[in-house]
Amino acid sequence: MQQVTKNVFAETKIRGCNPGYVITSDGVVVIDTPQLPTHAVKMREEAEKHGPIRYLINTEYHIDHIFGNYYFKSAEHVIAHQVTADNFMTVSPEINPFAYAKEAMPTDDPDGISIFPDEKTYFEDPNRPDIVITGDTTLKVGEHTFELLFTPGHTPGELAVYIPEERVVFASDTVFNGCQTWLYVSNIEQWIESLERLMGLDADVVIPGHGELCGKEQLYVQRAFLMEWKTALAVGVAKGWSKEECLAMAKKEFGSRFNVDIGQEYMLDHVIENNVNALYKRMTAAMA
Ligand SMILES: [Zn+2]
Repeated sequence: MQQVTKNVFAETKIRGCNPGYVITSDGVVVIDTPQLPTHAVKMREEAEKHGPIRYLINTEYHIDHIFGNYYFKSAEHVIAHQVTADNFMTVSPEINPFAYAKEAMPTDDPDGISIFPDEKTYFEDPNRPDIVITGDTTLKVGEHTFELLFTPGHTPGELAVYIPEERVVFASDTVFNGCQTWLYVSNIEQWIESLERLMGLDADVVIPGHGELCGKEQLYVQRAFLMEWKTALAVGVAKGWSKEECLAMAKKEFGSRFNVDIGQEYMLDHVIENNVNALYKRMTAAMA
């Protein structure tokens, strides 16, 4: 874990999201959990050296933010937005989240296989949120304030966690720093509004959902990148391009810009394709 400030720790070097924890005078608050079991157990043990885990906050429902909850059952409460709770480890025709998590095990966490549950055991209790919120919520834990900010866009239930005493914000996947942005279920207009909201915070450090720690300047870079994607697709759609033609453009335009985050470099084409699918569908539907 990387020490971010006096009481804030985050992990940016593992496959999956950047999880972290905050030490307070009355226990620990965890923000998201590592997807891979070995990392999850290690982070929990490390966090618990500083006191009991009062709250675990899940910032979104993507698997790399919630799968490791299973290894954090000692947390007193799990908090998430309603959308995250409603979509928590939901099996859909497109994806079985358990299978998705399992796929990474042999290559990325062979040591974790012995503590990886079977699917039935996992789904009996994946450690779902027991406190469900629908908007901004402030928690006081010890001397620390946790402002859970409803920042939809990347997912419709996205949360950021701002800790004013530490001048730090966990931005979750509202910010990707130096790696490909996943637009799958996104609403770019909302996402940009959420970025602009974070720009107004009194913070020195932004902990992105993926990539290295950064400052508020990255909020502006992310906004510009989203606008680029949106503009490129809008121009393509306006020219009457097919989805395939838009994809060819996007691979050239955006595929060479960054890698996908750690351990998922092989998914580059897949990420670009899903981004195009998502935007193309929204834009052509809006014009119909
Ligand atoms: Zn995500």
